[in-house]
Amino acid sequence: MLRMDYARRQKQFQQTLVNEELNGFAVTHPANLRYLCGYTGSNGLLLFLAGRGIFFTDGRYTEQAHAEIKGARVVIARGPLLPAAAKVIGKLRSAAIGFEADLTTVATATQMKELVHRRIEWKPISGLIMRQRLIKDADELKLIREAVRLGAKVYQQAAKFIRPGTREVEVAGKLEFAARQAGADGMSFETIVAAGKRGALPHGRASAQPIPRCGFVVVDSGVILRGYCSDMTRTMHVGQAGRVELGWYEAVLEAQLVGIRAVRPGVTAAQVDHATRSVLRKLKLDRYFTHSTGHGVGLEIHEPPRLGKNQMERLAPGMVVTIEPGIYIPGRGGIRIEDMVVVTESGCEVLTPVTKELVEVASS
Ligand code: ZN
Ligand code: ZN
Repeated sequence: MLRMDYARRQKQFQQTLVNEELNGFAVTHPANLRYLCGYTGSNGLLLFLAGRGIFFTDGRYTEQAHAEIKGARVVIARGPLLPAAAKVIGKLRSAAIGFEADLTTVATATQMKELVHRRIEWKPISGLIMRQRLIKDADELKLIREAVRLGAKVYQQAAKFIRPGTREVEVAGKLEFAARQAGADGMSFETIVAAGKRGALPHGRASAQPIPRCGFVVVDSGVILRGYCSDMTRTMHVGQAGRVELGWYEAVLEAQLVGIRAVRPGVTAAQVDHATRSVLRKLKLDRYFTHSTGHGVGLEIHEPPRLGKNQMERLAPGMVVTIEPGIYIPGRGGIRIEDMVVVTESGCEVLTPVTKELVEVASS
């Protein structure tokens, strides 16, 4: 069993708090809790105060909290967690305490102010822990690799069920069942199976529509394994692809490969997006590419950086992103190819171990 280095993560976070001139920080976002102290339950509040962690939860999670929490004292609160944490904070003469501004409702923020005296300052800060989570540590990379491998395996099992007449939801169901059987915690998002004309909806969920005798089938799926997400897309063709269809497929594949080659430390997210888009522009297909090139993946399925226009975040070793250009042609269908890659010192490594050659499925 892999032991995460929570002590190192907490130490790094504590250094960030010092740099931000904060005396403490209140964490409630589940992915951030899991990252900093290993908690996988739903109701929790981790209070960092002068380098020490106090974890608050309610009676339902007593056993789980004691088993999972690393590097923090566990306090089982009677009633809401925020007042319990505020009681501890209120004992300080004065302090600046940060909280996850982007994940806190206005109502909660107002309540927080009312719970402490005037010399306690709540500081709304966005993305502080996410900034640390951007760079995956060795433990995380190991789990991400395992999740990607599992996602690829279940995709390959389910792809066998893609044939004319089978409903999209059946394919999605086979895939999700295979994932559960193989030990996944769950799916990282609702599986997309979009065949024929429906493929032109970039995020069309699996529907009750049967797969037609001819056309592309887009399958976008991901699993969660020990908290970490995978994400991959392949596009198959039922029946023999015509010249035009082959051309489209090759264009998307070329864009995807150029995108992967553009990934290296120091380039901006926008530059990678520009690279894939330029390939499709030369072929006059860019107007059909209606989303960004990719996104970060980790404990959550959509994390920064977003590989899109005007995204000036620079890539750095340890970031894990998807490269997923696609084209969606109304009335005809869609093609998307998506891999997960990890940024290395000199470029990137593709994690997804599945062929990107066009697979043609017999039409009868
Ligand atoms: Zn995807
Ligand atoms: Zn994706």
